[in-house]
Amino acid sequence: MSLSILSESELVRLMCLLREAHKVAICAHRNPDGDAVGSALGWAEYLQSINKEVAIVLPNPYPDFLRWLPGSQRIVLFDRHETVARKLLSEADLICCLDFNALSRLGDMGAAIADAKATKMVIDHHLAPDPSAVQFIISHPELCATSELIFRIIDQLGGFENLSRSAAACLYTGMMTDTGAFTYNSSRPAIYAIISRLLTKGIDKDRIYRNVFHNYSENRLRFTGYILSEKTRFYKNHKASIFTVTREEMKRFHFIRGDAEGLVNMPLQVRGMVLSISLREDTDKDVVRVSLRSVDQFPCNKMAEEFFRGGGHLNASGGELPFPLEEAVRTAEQAIEKYSAYF
Ligand code: 5GP
Ligand code: MN
Repeated sequence: MSLSILSESELVRLMCLLREAHKVAICAHRNPDGDAVGSALGWAEYLQSINKEVAIVLPNPYPDFLRWLPGSQRIVLFDRHETVARKLLSEADLICCLDFNALSRLGDMGAAIADAKATKMVIDHHLAPDPSAVQFIISHPELCATSELIFRIIDQLGGFENLSRSAAACLYTGMMTDTGAFTYNSSRPAIYAIISRLLTKGIDKDRIYRNVFHNYSENRLRFTGYILSEKTRFYKNHKASIFTVTREEMKRFHFIRGDAEGLVNMPLQVRGMVLSISLREDTDKDVVRVSLRSVDQFPCNKMAEEFFRGGGHLNASGGELPFPLEEAVRTAEQAIEKYSAYF
């Protein structure tokens, strides 16, 4: 099976950009997930292997359950070390934007990237990349993860042989987390061809699964139980659900970053469920973070655009509402009503 993903002209363009760049900055989206961090670390290692000076700059911290990822300590956080981060971005010759489709998803860091003198490129699997402010876009929404795209690009550039076990673990993690451990968006045979090649690097996929999904505190387990038991409301005869999470509840359960990860998928375990909506008060800003998950043809991304000022993928989207939680619930209920035909 050929895993080549770039057209001949894209390959030539990428090789030229890489040849001309010495300092490369790699960025990914706000609230970085396993794919954002995994693809950034994997790409960083490849670029170092071809003698580039590489920095990874992320807008804000990634969840604790990703701390074990080899190389994650080197990541510079824009919100913690802004001066260093700005210097790295302004001095880079090439900025690679991974796993997001618009600089607006980065907050202040997006403006710093837009202002930087570097050539900017996007490598991503989200729909509809924004072409303004970047010079080159490699966009493959059909792929399960940016990490899959990075693997295929590295392979096409001839970097597979030198790929280390650590980089293989990072790329595997990105593919695993973006597909819920290969339970959604994961039926293309190429995914398994790639996994089989990553395994030849000696990664322990079962251990990676435990590192990510069995790495929580007792508080997190009880928090999950509480939200499912006390806070989840079902609609339309168990085809849709909404749960809310307040700041007070997060405090009560000693919530740490990442503790809500995956929670929004759980109501979909009920037979016949089509859509799950999570509404959570943001810890930094006065907004409600919205997460949507669905199955089959239910278009979360359309709903997120129409009702929640966001977007995303067909079955996994998000957004943000500048309202109090009760008002956000009303908006979500209106959204469910409007999409009745899908239930
Ligand atoms: P999550 O629910 O994990 O925060 O986000 C799921 C997916 O929705 C992300 O991978 C991303 O594609 C999309 N997404 C999340 N938040 C936003 C947002 O505020 N704006 C847009 N355009 N997409 C978002
Ligand atoms: Mn992704």
